[in-house]
Formats: sequence, structure tokens, C-alpha cells
Amino acid sequence: MYYSRLGYGYGIDPMYILTIIMALVCMYASFRVSSVYKKYAKVRSMSGLTGAQAAMEILRRNGITDVAVVHVGGELTDHYDPRTKTVSLSDSTYGSNSVAAVGVAAHECGHVLQHYNSYLPLKIRTAIVPVANIGSKAGIPIIILGMFLSFSPLITIGIWVFSLAVLFQVVTLPVEFNASSRALVMLEDYGILGHEEVAVSRKVLNAAAMTYVASAASAVIQLLRLILLNNRRR
Ligand SMILES: [Zn+2]
Repeated sequence: MYYSRLGYGYGIDPMYILTIIMALVCMYASFRVSSVYKKYAKVRSMSGLTGAQAAMEILRRNGITDVAVVHVGGELTDHYDPRTKTVSLSDSTYGSNSVAAVGVAAHECGHVLQHYNSYLPLKIRTAIVPVANIGSKAGIPIIILGMFLSFSPLITIGIWVFSLAVLFQVVTLPVEFNASSRALVMLEDYGILGHEEVAVSRKVLNAAAMTYVASAASAVIQLLRLILLNNRRR
């Protein structure tokens, strides 16, 4: 295919178009997760357990006594922090007995179990957090500086640094899918949700997983584009 030499983004650059499409896909995925969540946040679970109660029940069933379940502000801010051994559940999850809330709470407990079972992708993910943070902040500025100075080695370094952030996003995928599948099995096995309710929870968790897939795909495309741009400069 012919690439215009008119500079980056002006010619017919399929990678540029793909980058824009992926940005839209990411926006759609995050819009979808909140709309799916809102829909099933209105469906009360038959057991009547809240997100917090469901989380505590799952931890108890697994003999985990040193993990705290706490309330955190914000929307869809639920997470598990392995350093502080805390499951943080958001406003709409902690005290709600909806099928959506219980599903999200169980997903966070899925991360707790990954931590306790030394699940390899989680270990890798935790190990690369510091470098990934540097990569996501410094990667692009280093590349831009390299382009500005027309200094190729700096651009190459920037691409390597940025690829650490991309690696992090990719390693996040198995971690997220695995946490959800653990959650759904436990919800049914422990009788926290009925069979049909588990199917509804799966929809919510799948919608959430799609946001991770979209942003990982978007990051990979961005990285490929940077590599191609750099090769064309030479
Ligand atoms: Zn997760």
C-alpha cells in the first residue's frame, strides 16, 4: 500500500484510521458496561445478599480471614488491592443486593483467590505495575522528544518504554477473564445466586471485560503504529 509522504496522519494511513476506530470502540465499551450495569442494578437477587455480604461469604467459604471488605466512593471503582489485602466495593456495589452488584463483588473476590493461589498472570501483572506506570506516562513524551531532536535511538527507547505499558494491558486480560469465571462458579456453587441470576451476572462481567479487551487492543494498535512510523522515518 502507498503511504503518503505528507507527514503523519495526513496521508491515507490505515493505522491512523484504526487508532481512531479503536478510540471509538473503547468509548462504546465503557458506555456499554455502565448501561448494562445500570440495567441489572435494578434486578434484586433472590438470596438478598448485598455485594459486601456476598464478598464476605465467598472469602469465608475459602477460609480467607485476613482480607477486609470496605466501601469506596465513586462508580465502578471496585477493586482488590493485594498490598493492603482489601476488597474495595463502590457505592453501587457495597450495599446493593442486585445481581449486578453481587457479580462485581464476586469478581473482586476472584482476584483475592488469584492472589492466594499465586495465579501466574496476576503475579506478572503485579510485578510490572511500576514499569507500566512509567511506560504509560513517559513513553510518548520520549518518542516526541526523539522526533523533535531527530534522534532515532531516543525514539526507539520511547517505543520500548511505551511497550511496557502495552504489555501490562495485555497481561490484564487473562487476569480479568479468570477472575470473572472464578466468580461465576463460586456464586452458583455457594448458592449466592441462582442459575439464571448467574447468567445475568455473566452479562455484566462480560461487558466489563470488553472494556479491558478494547483498551488492550487499542494500546497494541497504537504501539504498532509507532513502530511503523519510526520505520518509515528511517
Ligand atoms: Zn477485575
